[in-house]
Amino acid sequence: MNEPIDLISHAALRELRSFTRRTGQPTDGAQLDLAPMEHVQEIEIDEEHVTITYNETIAFRYNANEVTHKEWSYKYNEDPEFVKAVASVIDLARKHLRDLPDNVACPPGCAECCSGYEPFVSRTDVQRIADHFAIPYDQAFKSYVVPRNSADGFVVGYLRKVSEDASDQCVFLKGNASGRHFCGIYEARPHDCRVFTPIGCDDVDKSLRHDRKFVPGSPFGPKHPPSLPKKTRRARRRR
Ligand code: SF4
Ligand code: SF4
Repeated sequence: MNEPIDLISHAALRELRSFTRRTGQPTDGAQLDLAPMEHVQEIEIDEEHVTITYNETIAFRYNANEVTHKEWSYKYNEDPEFVKAVASVIDLARKHLRDLPDNVACPPGCAECCSGYEPFVSRTDVQRIADHFAIPYDQAFKSYVVPRNSADGFVVGYLRKVSEDASDQCVFLKGNASGRHFCGIYEARPHDCRVFTPIGCDDVDKSLRHDRKFVPGSPFGPKHPPSLPKKTRRARRRR
């Protein structure tokens, strides 16, 4: 029978239990972010060795992760087959990285990803949307956010869809009738939407020149922006 490998060290488990004792909050290993590969600084490979150097350690706690700067290395030297397999995976990854187009752009008005994708929002995102419409935070939250708790409290929910169907369009996606979509709150869109990358998407325009830097155009929007409701206009003038 295979023995399960516990990824949480005994010391970390002791810390979790002590956190529960001190605070009364339940701790659940499944909710912890155990992704040390995010902090890989260097991977060195030769014919016999794979050495992975991490540039920081993180004390994983329920609700808060403490980063302590310390370097450490794992050496995988005992298993030549493993070393060979890792080397070929990394070679493949390098090849794909070389093949990745530098210059890609979304065809104007595409916005396929504004359906099916659920942008998570933080308090700051909700406040930005509230400010955009000049309404109170609670109103923006109630109108546009599906609440969802996160272990660290940072994410407070995700943006509503136009229906209960999670694969439906984002409540802020405009231009449905023309088929040329645009974000109705572009300047105030959540961080998740700001950092969304089109690289890897099958719908992008890959025909852009690769021999010089591509300057992104201005955000796609309606020719004649819809006028704001009177209440919002008044609130803006007062600022
Ligand atoms: S990332 Fe892809 S789906 Fe989203 S707008 Fe760009 S091309 Fe369209
Ligand atoms: S907020 Fe804007 S960019 Fe983000 S999913 Fe909705 S329509 Fe798309």
